[in-house]
Amino acid sequence: MSGQRPEGWAGTPVTGAELTERYQGSVMNTFGVPARVLARGEGSTVWDVDGNRYLDLLGGIAVNSLGHAHPAIVEAVSTQLQTLGHVSNFFISEPQVRLAEKLLSLIGSDGRGRVFFANSGTEANEAAFKAARRTGRTRIIATEGSFHGRTMGALALTSKAQYREPFEPLPGDVTFVPYGDVAALEAAVDDTVAVFVVEPIQGEAGVVDAPEGYLQAAREITSRHGALLWLDEVQTGVGRTGDWFAHTASGIVPDLVTLAKGLGGGIPIGAMIALGDAATLLQPGNHGTTFGGNPVATAAALAVIETIESEGLLAHATARGDQLADGLARHPRVKAVTGRGLLRGVVLTEPRAADVQTAAYDAGLIVNAPTADRLRLAPPLVLTEDEAAQAVATLSALLDEVLA
Ligand SMILES: *Cc1c(COP(=O)(O)O)cnc(C)c1O
Repeated sequence: MSGQRPEGWAGTPVTGAELTERYQGSVMNTFGVPARVLARGEGSTVWDVDGNRYLDLLGGIAVNSLGHAHPAIVEAVSTQLQTLGHVSNFFISEPQVRLAEKLLSLIGSDGRGRVFFANSGTEANEAAFKAARRTGRTRIIATEGSFHGRTMGALALTSKAQYREPFEPLPGDVTFVPYGDVAALEAAVDDTVAVFVVEPIQGEAGVVDAPEGYLQAAREITSRHGALLWLDEVQTGVGRTGDWFAHTASGIVPDLVTLAKGLGGGIPIGAMIALGDAATLLQPGNHGTTFGGNPVATAAALAVIETIESEGLLAHATARGDQLADGLARHPRVKAVTGRGLLRGVVLTEPRAADVQTAAYDAGLIVNAPTADRLRLAPPLVLTEDEAAQAVATLSALLDEVLA
């Protein structure tokens, strides 16, 4: 890339300031005003329209699993779009079937598992919510600090008062229990509970780990009461933690698993995987979607999964994640580094994560501050060893400067 404009750029040159003003005059204000206008990306690097370069340690919030402009996704999407772009669910397309089979094989389905495709995390969760209602029970147990999305059903399971309260009444019968607390879960679950929904690692809460044994206990408790166990792996799934799923290491078999973010590597797609008896809860006519499972999105997801396999990105995510964690944990302003693989929380000694995020942008590093005292890192799984070293060095210097 040379000069200020991205290569191949057509049209009149615009600046970040100008586009930000036009954004404010045309795009609905639900996100506040974003701090930068991005123009292009490659690997783990993005450039803004003013020509500044950033090492992307957020990856579109754990979405760009193969980084930006990965040739495997470009090729899969382009080829599929030139062949068959959309068919509706009145018809079958091959990429959809291949992706469903692939996901079931990665999750270790016994042959009874089935996949419902959607277009986002919140939609995957709506599908799971509706499946849970088909058990004939209505009570749902969710966790404090949870994030499951913004549609009315998913919002009902999301604990943050600031997100929920403007939209109440929400679909009901949801009880929140402290995350990671086995005794509280044991007390909340009885034979009237339809489902316990939980993130194996809470992402939006700032990458909060569950204590050892929590998922196993959740499996045991829900099974004992005939309730479903639903793992929201929208943020943690598809290689993010160094395993295909964050629950893989626990050895448990959940009933429902929802995926989205990293699955399409930037192409919108969500999936709800139902295992065992749960696979037949939704029957013909119970749920649907026009776009869900479309050939382009499923071809992109297949390319993501095949590339993770062919490039050994699970082991790579573990190695690069440990490199980031080991490097940052040494800093005197870092209390702890949470998470696994390339989903990491950096807990600061002071509640100044937002200031660090702002300074990081100025220093050419994209990080995110989900809470007052935590930074979240969710870089592309293709982050190189050099880039990880650079990330540790730049972030450490920023912490010295901002938290001096
Ligand atoms: C991001 C997220 C969602 C919502 O996904 P969208 O694609 O934004 O609708 C749901 N659950 C978890 C755990 C998430 O991280």
